[in-house]
Amino acid sequence: MKRALLVGGLAAAGIVVVVLATLSLPSVQDALVRRMASRQIQPREELLRYDGMRVVLCGTASPMPHPRRAQACVLVIAGGRFWIVDAGARSSNNVSRWRVPYDKIAGILLTHFHSDHIGDLGEYRLQSWVMGRPQHLEVYGPEGVERVVAGFNEAYALDDGYRFAHHGAEVADPALADLVARPFAVGGLDQAKSQVIVDRDGLRITTFAVDHSPVHPAVGYRFDYAGRSLVISGDTSPTEAVADAARGADVLLHEAQANHMVAIAREVAEESGRPRTAKILADIPRYHTSPTEAAELAGRAGVKLLALYHLTPPPPNALAERIFTRGMDAFSALRWVLADDGMQIDLPRASTEVIVGAIE
Ligand SMILES: [Zn+2]
Ligand SMILES: [Zn+2]
Repeated sequence: MKRALLVGGLAAAGIVVVVLATLSLPSVQDALVRRMASRQIQPREELLRYDGMRVVLCGTASPMPHPRRAQACVLVIAGGRFWIVDAGARSSNNVSRWRVPYDKIAGILLTHFHSDHIGDLGEYRLQSWVMGRPQHLEVYGPEGVERVVAGFNEAYALDDGYRFAHHGAEVADPALADLVARPFAVGGLDQAKSQVIVDRDGLRITTFAVDHSPVHPAVGYRFDYAGRSLVISGDTSPTEAVADAARGADVLLHEAQANHMVAIAREVAEESGRPRTAKILADIPRYHTSPTEAAELAGRAGVKLLALYHLTPPPPNALAERIFTRGMDAFSALRWVLADDGMQIDLPRASTEVIVGAIE
């Protein structure tokens, strides 16, 4: 028995040595690199061929740091093209990793101009440009979007020149580099009227004002395509306009802030002599929505699925997720999920199904 174990152990060790030696051969390494490259280099066109509406969370965090989650970003696929709602920092890393075909980007929609919603605009501009989008990249948003867009265009102007000098117009056509702002007027909350900002090829995008005071304007968006509907709250305290827009919708993506966790962090900041941090943590509950407030609103609106995103603080593990969603057990009649980067929600055409999965 002992002898058999010894022989087995020696054989296993021998195999490990041979494998390690093989992996250090340049020819074997090159073959592995070739395999990796062939997997990574092809855009996944099939992602966009979906018959219905497909939603992928490309960023679920807020300004608070997280090792993995990107800041606010929602990718919406409809009719063979895709839209980005909010361009939070690090979200383009997700979109690139998933090999979404950048040349099929239909446009970007901004809910408001807080830093955690615009940080990656320049990257979407650059990636879609060099990957061959055939027109300027349109950025829709409430008034003010012109300034944001002009700033990013200017910030990337030198880089544009380098890319053109290096790769030529075939890859980096200077005429197509720029973002183009598509501003729309937003009435005050008192006159909260929704308005259609895109209506083509069967896709209708509606915007509505939300309450993110003192941030004005701030909006949410509703997508209608193939008989399916998605509502994105943007950043807001609990607002009736969101419930109105989400009435009977298939999916409501609602921002969520665990105020019971923020309150403890504020106490810790005070006790640790960090008055600036404490002040910020004392200010933010007023202009966000807690998970249970979002659930109450979603239940009233009668949505098929509530997905919580733009998470403050972004939970780092399963236990923190449980703490984050404390109180949600009371909403047993509601189907809800805590979103994560890469969560995919499929809404097949002419169906009532809401399928939650992952893009990877
Ligand atoms: Zn905000
Ligand atoms: Zn935000």
